[in-house]
Amino acid sequence: MSRVVVTGAAGFLGSHLCDALLARGDEVVGIDNLVTGDLSNIEHLFGVPGFTYVKHDVSSYVWVPGPVDAVLHFASPASPKDYLEMPIQTLKVGSLGTHNTLGLAKEKGARFFLASTSEVYGDPQVHPQPETYWGHVNPVGPRGVYDEAKRFAEAMTMAYHRYHRLDVRIARIFNTYGPRLRPGDGRVVSNFLVQALTGKPLTVYGDGRQTRSFCYVDDEIRGFLALLDSEHTGPMNIGNPGEFTVLALAELVLDVTNSGSEIVFEPLPVDDPTVRQPDISQARRLLGWEPVVELREGLTRTAEWLARVLER
Ligand code: UDP
Repeated sequence: MSRVVVTGAAGFLGSHLCDALLARGDEVVGIDNLVTGDLSNIEHLFGVPGFTYVKHDVSSYVWVPGPVDAVLHFASPASPKDYLEMPIQTLKVGSLGTHNTLGLAKEKGARFFLASTSEVYGDPQVHPQPETYWGHVNPVGPRGVYDEAKRFAEAMTMAYHRYHRLDVRIARIFNTYGPRLRPGDGRVVSNFLVQALTGKPLTVYGDGRQTRSFCYVDDEIRGFLALLDSEHTGPMNIGNPGEFTVLALAELVLDVTNSGSEIVFEPLPVDDPTVRQPDISQARRLLGWEPVVELREGLTRTAEWLARVLER
């Protein structure tokens, strides 16, 4: 049994991570400042033995009393809509927040796990993206606030690893979806599902030929735990290599929800990556991990959950 600190605990991935850690018998101290997280994601954990929640912004100095075996840094706005609305907070949590949580891990002699992102590859010129690819990021474009914060976070994590000999893990997360995606979070899966379920037009940005590779949350969390428990520092891509155009996703959403919504086309956001697909050879070989939930099945489960949320 371990005592684990999870930042971003009330967020989409953070809350699922808390569930998985508690289920295997770990104690969890969940930290969140609730700017994009929501207590409804963890309300079922209040009163569960071994779970503690602390409302705090980890961009400010963070301290947790008692022993800590691992610090998992998941706090950050992650939807382009959110990080474009909160550019400075996004830069701060990726930089200062990473520095503070690394400091906590160092002080406690704990393992550190960074939730990094496929956005470190930017609009990639190598496809699919292996971990060895350095990326193609516009530092001064609007998405730079997220991409560069996460790139800095990786650099800072590796500096603590090399200079302080801290035990670290870096996961590069690709588009992930599932229950607890905020209905209004602006990302493509939540937008399309909510639009389809409420009979509104599905808003495809650009011509819809850009691609993404979508991983169901249960697969993603299993990948995180495999990396956390392994002896591999990473960075390691944790994502589903099944690649779809945005237009194909829209059509699949209409199909699984049995929706009569139409598809409309809207302008493509600035610096929107044209392709994205993880090369997961490393995760397969070193962790024995790969995703198993097909997009159709995952979308069906997510639609069922969203339909219940929308009813309320
Ligand atoms: N997108 C879209 N319609 C929407 C929301 C997003 O066509 O209502 C597109 C977006 O332009 C991008 C892809 O879907 O090409 C994925 O966008 P998302 O915001 O989910 O995350 P990203 O992968 O860009 O970080």
